[in-house]
Amino acid sequence: MIYNSTRNKNFTATPSMAVLNGIADDGGLYIFNDYPAVVALEKLMSLDTLELYTEILSSLISDIPKDKMAELVKLAYTGKFETSDLTPTVKVGDDYILELFRGPTSAFKDVALSMLPHLVTASAKMNGVTDDIHILTATSGDTGKAAMAGFANVDGTRITVFFPKDGVSTVQQAQMLTQEGYNVNVCSVKGNFDDAQTGVKEIFASVKENALLEGKGIRLSSANSINIGRLAPQVVYYYKSYFDLVRAGDIKLGDKVDFIVPTGNFGNILAGYIAKGMGLPVGTLVCASNENDVLTEFLLTGRYNKKRTFFKTASPSMDILVSSNLERLLYLISGCDADKVTIYMDDLKYKGEYTVDSSISEKIKSEFYACSCSDSTAFKTIKSVYEEKGYLLDTHTAVAMHVCEEYKKNVPSHNVCVVLSTASPYKFAADVLFAITGNREENGFKALNDLEALTAVPVPSNLKGLDTKETLHNSSIEKEDMLQYVLDYSLKTLK
Ligand SMILES: *Cc1c(COP(=O)(O)O)cnc(C)c1O
Repeated sequence: MIYNSTRNKNFTATPSMAVLNGIADDGGLYIFNDYPAVVALEKLMSLDTLELYTEILSSLISDIPKDKMAELVKLAYTGKFETSDLTPTVKVGDDYILELFRGPTSAFKDVALSMLPHLVTASAKMNGVTDDIHILTATSGDTGKAAMAGFANVDGTRITVFFPKDGVSTVQQAQMLTQEGYNVNVCSVKGNFDDAQTGVKEIFASVKENALLEGKGIRLSSANSINIGRLAPQVVYYYKSYFDLVRAGDIKLGDKVDFIVPTGNFGNILAGYIAKGMGLPVGTLVCASNENDVLTEFLLTGRYNKKRTFFKTASPSMDILVSSNLERLLYLISGCDADKVTIYMDDLKYKGEYTVDSSISEKIKSEFYACSCSDSTAFKTIKSVYEEKGYLLDTHTAVAMHVCEEYKKNVPSHNVCVVLSTASPYKFAADVLFAITGNREENGFKALNDLEALTAVPVPSNLKGLDTKETLHNSSIEKEDMLQYVLDYSLKTLK
């Protein structure tokens, strides 16, 4: 299988090179033209969790041999998650919650970012690349920590993470600033997440265009969900959850399942769309947004308009106005029309908006449902789900849970619904506590302890004692200085 840029079919890469490059040379994202073949569902269902990862990852990153992939999967996941099946699906009321937050940093991004470093180093080896890989990542809070944890002390790699100053929770910030490892580097940027993400994209472009790292023994790559190596592991848990429902007798093999996804950069939900394209019986993919409802508007109307007020919400990992991975959906759903994608992306860049053809918009509406949810409604949902069903939601999952309720009300013909849960409630303890008690505890660490005392839901071990850990990073820069900051770290001798 071969990947190419969403903006030009002539910019191709093998899967392993797509993992290494992160983004295509023309600024497009790597994508395939035909969905990769996978073995029959019955066969997939008979596999254990790690075998399932190996099988699906081998079909998406097909030039890494399967026995090698099995080794990488073992390295990535064995003993790293709270549960040996990595992503349990639990029943809550009439619906199901797919818990994606049982990993080493209590974020759903752990699923992909535990795997990515191993995909990157294996890809480098296979392709005779001896350069150090310098990972650049913009984070709205969760990616940064999960990526640093994944890459920490992996020889031949180094990582720089940028997060928006004042844009992440106390716990998220402490998680990042206390990260150990000789090759990790984190810095806040004065701006919002989109500023940080745009800055990172510009660094890739500028380094490439001006050959800034040519001959220096370093090459840049990305750990953002624009990297196909991030997306591929996410496809697997849709299969896993589906099979869990079949095994529990809640559905029959072949029945459709609807997935409700709290969405920001459109990576998670796109992985569901890819699973569907590969043959998993997925019904509707429900895109849940917070007050930054640019995706809701787009999926319902076909017009993407980023010229809008940016809200800082209680679900900061979804505070995004430009959802990068949507570009891949446009490519796939337009029948792989790179010219059209280029026009839309140019319009977005120069006019701040684009409108897709009505045929594309209709197709999108047939596959997706979309709805948004305010902070106050999300808080009410946290309270009611906790009090009525005894389940503690984080602020992002609460957005999705509310949207699930709306979806079921508006679409009576829905299938069994699985809500994807993307974070431990303890990562956003102050807001979760406020939602339940009505009292605001400004100290994020005290809120964490108070929430545990109130609910008796155990705090994940990685979040315990964060407030007394030593701060190891303290840089904060203007967005204009990001390039220089990266070059300085890139050219520094480590160890
Ligand atoms: C990243 C993140 C999201 C959004 O996922 P996308 O793949 O960017 O759509 C939602 N919730 C949490 C907690 C996250 O960390």
